[in-house]
Amino acid sequence: MTIGRSRGPAGRGPRSVPKPKRLAHLRIDPRGYPIIAAIGQAPGDIDFGALSESRKLALATFDLCAVCALPFGEELRWQVSFDEATAMAKTLVSNEAPVHEICALYAAQVCPFVSSPYARHGDDVRKGMKRPEITYLTGFRRTARVFGRRSGLQTSESVLHFETTGVEQQLKLSTSTEAIEAYQRALETDVEVTIDDTERELATRLTELTIKDGEDSGSVMAGAAWFAGGAFCPGVGNVQGMRRFTEEPMYTALARQVLLEPGFAKKFEETEDLYTRAALKWLNSRDDLPEILAGWRNTALNRAWHGRPSPGKSSGGTDPKKSKRKLQSAARRKNRR
Ligand SMILES: [Zn+2]
Repeated sequence: MTIGRSRGPAGRGPRSVPKPKRLAHLRIDPRGYPIIAAIGQAPGDIDFGALSESRKLALATFDLCAVCALPFGEELRWQVSFDEATAMAKTLVSNEAPVHEICALYAAQVCPFVSSPYARHGDDVRKGMKRPEITYLTGFRRTARVFGRRSGLQTSESVLHFETTGVEQQLKLSTSTEAIEAYQRALETDVEVTIDDTERELATRLTELTIKDGEDSGSVMAGAAWFAGGAFCPGVGNVQGMRRFTEEPMYTALARQVLLEPGFAKKFEETEDLYTRAALKWLNSRDDLPEILAGWRNTALNRAWHGRPSPGKSSGGTDPKKSKRKLQSAARRKNRR
């Protein structure tokens, strides 16, 4: 990711481009770039090329835009690509979480490499690579699957992949003028995203530093997402940064309790942990869960009903009922790490 350097013709400085309304809550880095939801947010350590797997799990679980951390509602889910074959495919699998159209167009304005497939692959891939001539943006109706899988260049651990499907719109931006015009059109019709208090709280927790220590909130939000059902994402146990949740049986035990034990999710809302509370309040107040989370939970429920252990379950033999209090206080401790 070359934000701030080797800026191509479409890469205008962040201060010269008006921001979409829905980015107003994002913190700003010293150069003026809004700090997007998908990257680590620790002060002095803002790297727009380093997507955070912890954050991606939260984005997938709560079904949020990877730039602004707000829900999609009825809006399409956009992915950016640089080759025509990928852009024209009916289904796209990316290791980047989808974004709103206006968030994608804004990112394309201020930084040609935001949301780029090159961004996260390190210097070997990026070396000598010029900004691609053409940027394709594809708007999908659905996020059909999210799962952990090894990515080609990172062989030791997995990363989360997002499969979007149901192409409804395509944009091909061949010149900086086209990119500017497309963004202008999007700005003119931009509306504020209507969200409820629980969605606002999730976006705030995800994009602000931790209250106690002023650290990146990515891992505590991943813990909160784990309890809400992120634990049941296929392949999540091997994803970067998730080992702490699989090594400590309490995390998945609590996630299973939220899923299986009537009333527990409501009680868990009262936890002192701000992040878990935000996640549970959101979960408990949904009439319909986002498709991805609903799918993970249904699969886990079916497994439980048919007596097969869920993949994330440890063999530790925890009795969730007996050790509930212990687990809850442990959850709070661990989650603050
Ligand atoms: Zn957005």
